[in-house]
Amino acid sequence: MNEKDETSTASAESATSRHFLRQWIEKDVAGGKTGGKVVTRFPPEPNGYIHIGHAKAVCVDFGMAALFGGECHLRLDDTNPAKESDEFAENIKRDIRWLGFEWSGEGDGAEPGFYNASNMFGKMYGIAEKLIEAGQAYCCNLGQEEWKEYRGVPEKPGKPSPSRDTDPARNLKIFREMRAGKYADGEWCLRAKIDMASPNIHMRDPVIYRIRHAEHYHLGNEWCIYPMYDFAHPIEDALEGVTHSMCTLEFEVHRPLYDWVVDRLDEMGLLVVRNGVKIRPQQREFARLNITHTVMSKRLLRQLVEEGRVDGWDDPRMPTVCGMRRRGYTPGAIREFCERAGVSKVESESDPALLEWCVREELNRTAARRMAVVDPVKVVIENWNGPARDAELPNNPLDESAGTRKVRFGREIWIDRSDFMEVPEKKFFRMAPGGEVRLRGACIFKCTGCVKDDDGNISEIRGTWDENSWGGNAADGRKVKGTIHWVDCESGVKAEFRLYDRLFSDKDPLADGPENFLEHLNPDSLKTAYGYVEPSLAAAEPGEHFQFERTGYFTCDSRLVFNRTVTLKDSFKPGEGNK
Ligand code: ATP
Ligand code: MG
Repeated sequence: MNEKDETSTASAESATSRHFLRQWIEKDVAGGKTGGKVVTRFPPEPNGYIHIGHAKAVCVDFGMAALFGGECHLRLDDTNPAKESDEFAENIKRDIRWLGFEWSGEGDGAEPGFYNASNMFGKMYGIAEKLIEAGQAYCCNLGQEEWKEYRGVPEKPGKPSPSRDTDPARNLKIFREMRAGKYADGEWCLRAKIDMASPNIHMRDPVIYRIRHAEHYHLGNEWCIYPMYDFAHPIEDALEGVTHSMCTLEFEVHRPLYDWVVDRLDEMGLLVVRNGVKIRPQQREFARLNITHTVMSKRLLRQLVEEGRVDGWDDPRMPTVCGMRRRGYTPGAIREFCERAGVSKVESESDPALLEWCVREELNRTAARRMAVVDPVKVVIENWNGPARDAELPNNPLDESAGTRKVRFGREIWIDRSDFMEVPEKKFFRMAPGGEVRLRGACIFKCTGCVKDDDGNISEIRGTWDENSWGGNAADGRKVKGTIHWVDCESGVKAEFRLYDRLFSDKDPLADGPENFLEHLNPDSLKTAYGYVEPSLAAAEPGEHFQFERTGYFTCDSRLVFNRTVTLKDSFKPGEGNK
């Protein structure tokens, strides 16, 4: 089976595969647990740009809602005041929409389906006070180190905090003082009173509120206490009426705590009732998407940006959604990749070559063909005496409706240096002295020799054309093996090409610790070249996709600057990078 057959079978399978999350939701729908509507959410923290791993979660969260005719909320999980910003928030929205998804549902403001977790701070605070009143939460002033020591290890019960049995009235007083700003960061915290003997360490009276004197990007200094993720998340899910809350595997051990909070909300009568059904949000976990040859932690991506190792979050080498867009990847290819990577309970690593394959598959069908010469050398056709002519070339040989275009051809043309060899190797069917080659869509050319400069570099190639071969075929029917692309010297325009390769040379840049990951940067991840393109490309718009014939897929970055999206053929070999 060739590569194509193999992967199309895989696609057919995955399209119909009913992974465990889908089966789980199906069962709840059938059991009437959703009140007639599946509601999911995608909850990014607006502290960075979303990357391919988030794209996977986007596909799962929005995809499952769509599959069941439900809704997916976009909730910015802005419960951590540091490093969050509107710039990040706006770009997250833009990237999700670009991926082809749209949030829907009520929303907590004017925008349907859109929520800011911080808009619930008041409600969360109220819930925390209720827990205190019910004796289910207490204020604790153990220091970080003591707190860890008291919490203990899974095999042995922990030690109760000296504050564990403080009466609710005093707890309430301290909690209100915490909120009023009486204490410094870390001096006190609020803990849920659950079980210091639980084998699950997350159930040993977890911290649910902490003091943080920091400015929040929306609420300024309104709060100096902030809810912890484990407390905030189930509240957000419950109050928004989310039925199915999907997240990554590391949260599995937090699930009993999630359920504990939902139970308390139930006791308080706070669960949403939909069509007579009380909605109890449930959490399930799937394996993160990991990709080799890159890093995906926002902290490390931020470091790359801040230290100027890359040209911003949208550098085409970054695994961010905006980086992939600028690289020329398409939303369809990214969705296809996420689908093929599958939904699983087991951590695994995906090869970026699979993503590149998906990109190539789509662009091969859709990208307009153009000619570009990335590393130019001039060819002079000595017997070309007439005026320039127009060669007619198909815009996409796979799609007749894409039509043809006329490309000017004359006495002097550019070809790629690699298409010529003065002393040809065996099986080199391109241009060489004494041999014939077809100039794509134009004519048959016979090379007679080349001119060199003082340093011995080839500065010009010379030859003649067969005047009875206009269009590319010989009148006498003789065969010519090689066909090469060209750009006419007179009408062609100068262009910049950015040739991207993997950002990291190593499969796992974190193998010897996150502090050393920069050592694994690929020094050749960006090469810039200057050459020539067909004149029509002067009008290319940023984001337009092209296949530069025989060279690769490119996208326009800005006027006459083209980013290489992916090479034409998959020449990727593990350990060698994509050459
Ligand atoms: P980081 O650790 O890089 O900051 P994060 O997981 O904290 O990433 P969030 O903004 O909190 O980033 O993530 C939003 C959602 O995306 C979460 O539900 C998270 O589980 C999911 N997600 C993040 N990374 C991946 C990944 N590699 N694969 C699948 N889902 C992911
Ligand atoms: Mg997070």
